[in-house]
Amino acid sequence: MRISESLKFGIRSVECGVKDLYSAFCIPQSALGRFGIPQFKGGELMALVVQKYGGTSVGDIERIKNVASRVIATKNQGHEVVVVVSAMAGETDKLIHLAQQVTPNPDEREMDVLVSTGEQVSIALLAIAFKSMGYNAKSYLGFQIKIATDSAFGKARITGIESEKILDDLKNGLVVVVAGFQGVDESDNITTLGRGGSDTTAVAIAAALKADVCEIYTDVDGVYTTDPNICSKARKLSKISYDEMLEMASLGAKVLQIRSVEFAKKYDVPIHVRSSFNDNSGTIVCKEDKEMERVVVSGVTYNKNEAKIEVMRVPDVPGVAAKLFKPIANANIVVDMIIQTSSADKGFADVAFTVPKSDFAKTLQIVKGTIKELGGKEVDADENIAKVSIVGVGMRSHSHVATQMFSALAKEGINIYMISTSEIKISCIIDSKYTELAVRALHDAFQLDQPEVKEEK
Ligand code: ADP
Ligand code: ASP
Ligand code: MG
Repeated sequence: MRISESLKFGIRSVECGVKDLYSAFCIPQSALGRFGIPQFKGGELMALVVQKYGGTSVGDIERIKNVASRVIATKNQGHEVVVVVSAMAGETDKLIHLAQQVTPNPDEREMDVLVSTGEQVSIALLAIAFKSMGYNAKSYLGFQIKIATDSAFGKARITGIESEKILDDLKNGLVVVVAGFQGVDESDNITTLGRGGSDTTAVAIAAALKADVCEIYTDVDGVYTTDPNICSKARKLSKISYDEMLEMASLGAKVLQIRSVEFAKKYDVPIHVRSSFNDNSGTIVCKEDKEMERVVVSGVTYNKNEAKIEVMRVPDVPGVAAKLFKPIANANIVVDMIIQTSSADKGFADVAFTVPKSDFAKTLQIVKGTIKELGGKEVDADENIAKVSIVGVGMRSHSHVATQMFSALAKEGINIYMISTSEIKISCIIDSKYTELAVRALHDAFQLDQPEVKEEK
C-alpha cells in the first residue's frame, strides 16, 4: 500500500489534543484542521503522539528506563503513544565495523540484515521495561508492521506503511514500540533507510496514523542556529519552517534526517525536536509563517561526509555530462555539487563534483571507467573537504548575503574550492580542517546569537 493510499484510511480523529499539548507553539491552524472530531477519554482530550528516541537516549539500561518513564507519563496524561527507537548509541557503528573486518566491500543486502539488528535489541529492551513497570506494550520490527520500502539497500525509501496492527494495539491500550531505520522490500528483503533513518520511520508512521505530533527526542533540546556542540554561541530556534529545516538537514544538520522532513512537509506533520534528558520545550518544525520570513539567515551547517572528484580535460561537447553522470546515478549515488569549467585547453572542460564519502570508492571506480570512454585525461580526488552553508528563507530578497559569507571566510584566511547557491542557501566547499573555524566565523558574521536578523529597510 502506498503511503498516500494508507493515509486515506487513517482513522485518527483528534483535533484538540495537539492544541492542548502544543498551544504554546501556535501550530498553524491548517495543521490541525485535518484531524476532524475531537476524541475524549475520561473527559480529557486525547492525542496520538509518535515519540522517537535516538541512540544516546537509549544508550544504556538506565536511559531505556528513563524513556519508558517518559512515555508512561505521556500515556498517563491520556494520550496514545507509538514509540520509535534507534539502536543503542554506537551499536550501528559497531555492526558496520564487524562487517568491514570481513571485507572492505560487504554485500549490501547482507549489510542491511546486519545493521538492522541494533534496533531489534533496543525495541525489545524498551518493551521489557514497560512490562516490568506494569504497562502493556508490544515491540515490532519493520517487516512485522509492515513498513514497505524500495530495494535500495542502505538508503531505501519508504513506499507504504500498514497501520492496522498499530491502531488495533492502541485501541487495546498498548504502547506500541517500533524499530526505527528498517523496512522490507517487495521480495521480503530487510532494508535500511540510511544513517539517522529512525527519524524518517517516526515521521512516516506519524503521517500514516495522522498523529497529532511527532516528537523527536535527542541529546540536544532543539534545533539550533548551528550545531551547539561546536559553537557555544548557537541559539535554540523556537520554530523553523519545513523548507529551512530541509535545507539544514540536507546540508549536514544531522539532528533530523532529511527524508523525515520531506515526509513531514508532504503530509503536514508537525515535528517537535526536544531533549530526552529534560522537559524544556524544543523546536517546532512546521509550515512557514510571516514571522519566519523576516529572518535573512537562520542557520549555519557543515558536512564533513562528502568527497570531491575532479575529472580533467573531457571534450567540451554536448552529451558529455550525461555520459559522465548517468552511470553514477544508475549506481544509486547522489551527486551533490557539480561545477564545470572550461579547461586551459580549448575544446575541453574540467568537471568537479561531490558525492557522499560512503559512495566515494564506488564513484571513483565508475568514473575511471567512464573517462576512458570519453577520452578524459585524469581524475583527481579529495576526501579532506567540508561543506559549510548558510540557510535562511529571507535570503531570497537579499543581494549581499553571499558577499558577506565570502568575506567572513576570507577574513579567517579560508580558501573556497566550490560554491553553490539556491533560493534559500549558499554553500562553500573548503578544506575540512577549517570546518569549526568557518562555522563559528559565519555564526558571528550573521549575528546568529542575536534573537533575530531582521530585513534591512
Ligand atoms: P540521535 O542519535 O538522537 O538521532 P543525532 O546525533 O542524530 O541524534 O542528532 C543530534 C545531534 O545533531 C546533536 O548532538 C548535534 O551535535 C547535531 N546537530 C548538528 N546541527 C545541529 C543543529 N543545527 N541543531 C541541533 N543539533 C545539531
Ligand atoms: N541506528 C541507525 C543509525 O545509527 C539509525 C538511527 O539512529 O536513526 O544511523
Ligand atoms: Mg539521528
